[in-house]
Amino acid sequence: MKDILPDEVYHWQRIEWLLRAHFESFCYREIRTPLVEEAGLFSRAIGEATDIVNKEMYEFADRSERQLALRPEATASIARTYIEHGFAKTHGVVKWYYIGPMFRAERPQRGRQRQFHQAGVELIGSDSHYYDAEAILLLCNIMHSLGIEAWRLAVNNIGCLDDRRLITDRLRRILTKERSALCDDCTQRLQGNVLRILDCKKPECRKVIDALPEWDRWICDGCTKHFNRVIALLSCAGVTYTKEPHLVRGLDYYTKTVFEMTLPQLGAQDAVAAGGRYDALISQLGGERVGAVGFAIGLERLLLASAHFLSGETKKTPDAFLVTTSLEACDSAFILLYQLRTNGVMCDMDFEGKSLKAQMRQAGKAAARFVIILGEDEIRGGTVTVKDMGQGVQESIQQERLIPFLKERSAGEHGACQDT
Ligand SMILES: [Zn+2]
Ligand SMILES: [Zn+2]
Repeated sequence: MKDILPDEVYHWQRIEWLLRAHFESFCYREIRTPLVEEAGLFSRAIGEATDIVNKEMYEFADRSERQLALRPEATASIARTYIEHGFAKTHGVVKWYYIGPMFRAERPQRGRQRQFHQAGVELIGSDSHYYDAEAILLLCNIMHSLGIEAWRLAVNNIGCLDDRRLITDRLRRILTKERSALCDDCTQRLQGNVLRILDCKKPECRKVIDALPEWDRWICDGCTKHFNRVIALLSCAGVTYTKEPHLVRGLDYYTKTVFEMTLPQLGAQDAVAAGGRYDALISQLGGERVGAVGFAIGLERLLLASAHFLSGETKKTPDAFLVTTSLEACDSAFILLYQLRTNGVMCDMDFEGKSLKAQMRQAGKAAARFVIILGEDEIRGGTVTVKDMGQGVQESIQQERLIPFLKERSAGEHGACQDT
């Protein structure tokens, strides 16, 4: 787990603002669920036999011996919320988004963090194929506005639960014959969810997986139609995708559409976002039979890929820096500083009694747009001297004119005072 220091937080905030704007433009609303849940929720939702639940979840007993877990992902918690608050009856369809930390005790050599961050959306309450397409388009818009163009979108259809049973049986039969060619983990997976073998990255397993038959013909008519409509909408919207015949997702709850976005620039761990439909999850957790679809973006990876958008900036720069020419002027400057801040002007000054030259240096280092000089003369005349650091011009103005002056100058230029 890692501290995120202010320079870096600034990047996080910029990405988060952008994500919120995109989510909200698609009319998703933010939801915040607890970081801790009853551990059983995740084993029921994600699957008892998954690595996430088996090897990676932070699970512990609290003082009342309840088995709890730090959330390893958000979908299960959000499904619980939907059921617990009776949204199926009161709202039907809900569109929610989240941004926040998740926790998995992954093997450290994989270079991943054990507290990592995800942002994502969950649409719950509909079987409509439009929502699958909408989620994917939303994801594409996000990449586009971050200046990330070299993404690769893989989509696949894994069918309904009945189809998955059929696919699983047939694949198990084929893979059991190839048992000797599989890695140890995958040999174990033959007993559990064999679909998870398809996620294995080991070269010996890849060889076997690539030779497997495509399972499209084992998928029922309803699911085939649904998927074909989704990809037709993507094509109409001009989205480039690849039908990846063996793409499954590591979690048990997916049905029908699954998708994954990868960025080749990220190297070996190139998946930046993934999602799909999970029509069986809500009922599996005790709720109604309602359809749902969503995706999650890995924010650490998204940040790595967004260097161009973030352009090296590491902080917001102040609108103004106050400089005093004498110790006596300090108290007046302190009150002026307070008035400016109260009026939404981002500004600062030195409290250490530094020389005029040192204060000017500090103002330069802070990259303040204006330097406001307050000395004995200014105090006597009720004025301030304002130096525009961008244009190098300096003028004397009445103190009561200062706030409107700064707001006027800043508006529409670099967006100070209301920078977002
Ligand atoms: Zn089906
Ligand atoms: Zn394997």
